[in-house]
Amino acid sequence: MIALGLGLVVVLAAVPLLADRIKAASGGVSARFTTARADTAAGAAAAGADTRGRDVLTYRVQVEEGTGLDAEHEARTVHEVLTDPRGWTADGEVAFVPSDSAAADLSVKIATPATVDLLCGRAGLDTGGEVNCRVDNDVVVNLKRWTSGSPQFPGPIEEYRALIVNHEVGHRLGRGHETCPRAGAPAPVMMQQIKGLEGCVANAWPYDADGRYMGGPPVP
Ligand SMILES: [Zn+2]
Repeated sequence: MIALGLGLVVVLAAVPLLADRIKAASGGVSARFTTARADTAAGAAAAGADTRGRDVLTYRVQVEEGTGLDAEHEARTVHEVLTDPRGWTADGEVAFVPSDSAAADLSVKIATPATVDLLCGRAGLDTGGEVNCRVDNDVVVNLKRWTSGSPQFPGPIEEYRALIVNHEVGHRLGRGHETCPRAGAPAPVMMQQIKGLEGCVANAWPYDADGRYMGGPPVP
């Protein structure tokens, strides 16, 4: 918690400068990112990753410069989510392998609200300084949500970060939005839980501990 508090202080101090830079750069130059080394998460993964017979998606993790976030630390967090037994790999068909290449299948970018709006806005998405988006191979995560969670999500911040990663990576895997299947059920990870839970219970994972998909009816 101490580290998080310090991080927020740094972030708040950086915002005015960054906002100026974004404004000045609206002609097309985007903010700068630091990319985590591929071996950061790979080291943690060596124990368990088995990619045989699966579709392998490479991914890299990037943090915007000036946010005070440590790219290696955030990469470990993302990797833990992607390789969790309740994550997307539970389908037995997909595996995630860390990369630090621009050619990665997926780039998780953690950025200030202004940069999120800029990157997502280029694709016509309105993130309003508040939410995350996925554009092509980029999962763009709003620093505000990453560090302070969502009012709709009562669980620990680690769980909310898992929800962000699982939801946006779910889009990259081709999944659309889902709704609450019935009152009291776990909210599908592909539900837009930040907009309200419709009687469901907040949930960060696509699969339960027994490997069952916790889904709901698709949003038309
Ligand atoms: Zn979504």
